[in-house]
Amino acid sequence: MEKKILLKHALLNAIQHDGKASAQAVLGKIISENPKVRDEIKKIIPEIKKIVIKINSLSQKEQEKKMIELGISLEKKTEEKRELPELPNAKTGEVITAFPPEPSKYPHIGHAKAAIINYLYAKKYKGKFIIRFEDTNPELSKKEYYGAIIDGLKWLGIKWDKLDYVSNHISKYYQATEKLIKENKAYVCICKQDDIKKNRRFMIECKCRKNSVDKNLELWKKLLTVFKEGEASVRLKISMEHKNALMRDPTIMRVLEYTHPRVGKKYRVWPMYDFATALMDSWGGVTHRIRSKEFELRTELQQFIQKSLDLKSPYITEIARFNLKGVPSSGRQIRDMIKNKELTGWDDPRLTTLMALRRRGFVPEGIKKFLVSTGVSKAESTLTWDMLESFNRSVIDSKCNRYFAVFNPIQIKIKNASPIKKVRVHLHPDYPKRGFRQIPINIDKILISREDFEKYKGKKVRLIGLFNIKLDEKAEFVSKEVVMEMPKIQWVSEKNVKVSVLMPDGTEKSGFAEPEVKKLKIDERIQFMRFGFCRLDKKKPDLLFYFTHK
Ligand SMILES: [Zn+2]
Repeated sequence: MEKKILLKHALLNAIQHDGKASAQAVLGKIISENPKVRDEIKKIIPEIKKIVIKINSLSQKEQEKKMIELGISLEKKTEEKRELPELPNAKTGEVITAFPPEPSKYPHIGHAKAAIINYLYAKKYKGKFIIRFEDTNPELSKKEYYGAIIDGLKWLGIKWDKLDYVSNHISKYYQATEKLIKENKAYVCICKQDDIKKNRRFMIECKCRKNSVDKNLELWKKLLTVFKEGEASVRLKISMEHKNALMRDPTIMRVLEYTHPRVGKKYRVWPMYDFATALMDSWGGVTHRIRSKEFELRTELQQFIQKSLDLKSPYITEIARFNLKGVPSSGRQIRDMIKNKELTGWDDPRLTTLMALRRRGFVPEGIKKFLVSTGVSKAESTLTWDMLESFNRSVIDSKCNRYFAVFNPIQIKIKNASPIKKVRVHLHPDYPKRGFRQIPINIDKILISREDFEKYKGKKVRLIGLFNIKLDEKAEFVSKEVVMEMPKIQWVSEKNVKVSVLMPDGTEKSGFAEPEVKKLKIDERIQFMRFGFCRLDKKKPDLLFYFTHK
């Protein structure tokens, strides 16, 4: 552990408590900021004690001076207020950004990043932000996905100035296609899909490419009315020898005979992705697009399309692909896993869809801070759950009240303790004004976790909020005062409540919690001390929590 971190917390604690830091409180702060510290707690405690003695020997003025020297500010986490770098050619009041999701899956944290960054840029320049559903594949677009995307973005606190649908503009695509054909910039190809693929690989022009404009116009009419799926498509006439394979006479319009969730059977010819997105950017006046690096090769084609129709191109910048280590994020992969029952649904706790994170108890502010911290650079970096969790923890730690729960319990009794009926414990030790909870006790019937029992059997431990004991099935009362080095464990006793916690790996843990958790409301987030943050998902038949993180 870095000395600076210890020093920071000791100073902050001293400043908040009339110049006197408490080693116990400092330790608590350090653990809540980084739970992994628990593993080296023995090593850290003497260091903390030393630093606290040193800090407490200073006057308050000297403490303040030291804080300034070390660049520590009382204002929380100023370092997280990262500014987004300036965009080129961005004029205040004139910037228009867009987030164009395809309504073919539930939004995940990667989409959220693209949405947030584009939204924040529009805000930064007092411009406009457009949400645009790229729903040009009637086979994949589903009503439920439109709703899920809107819900997810609203939950994150993203606001938009305009909500648009590519499916509202299909007749304009027909006009644009006809214009391209008339100017001999596009042609109708009636080759088989496999042949088109092969020709593209071997850079061979097909015979359709040589058709006259009149012939193409005639075929275009047939495309709109009689050609079946896969029988014909419209292709841009660029070059079959282009070094970017996407530029080898790409398809821009094709037949897809499905019922569309918004426009039904009104259209049977639909624009391909690049054609759709390039024209919508220009028609919507989008000035800046910030998007994931996987689209990098497509920019050339999209700009070519815009130029062919004398339309303006937005400034495009790519940011690193967003992937959280070990999490499936492709829509197809998730759809298959749900079908095969490997996942319980789009909100399965193993996923990073917004609905899964929300159900686990993540909060929008934590997710947003994490996403903005990952920055707008192109350099790929491995993002881990740990990072996301630590941002979320920094937001929820102060808000979540604390309770005791014991999993895989073992019962002990305590000799020589004066009998008490109940104990009052703070809901949150850092916010005493929030009040107390009451835990009923029967000293002959105390439950602790088997893990703690095995680890500390025969040793002195503190039952948090109560007293110190020598741990055994028949434990012995030792003393009342808090002893810093002594391990502290949570416990429950009388009138316990049965609880289950759904863990992020899909397994379920069952145990008992103190009676006051019965008062919690659905959706409430709490911390089960020494176990982790949880969100109450269901109350019946028993309380079911989702595990957020440690
Ligand atoms: Zn052809």
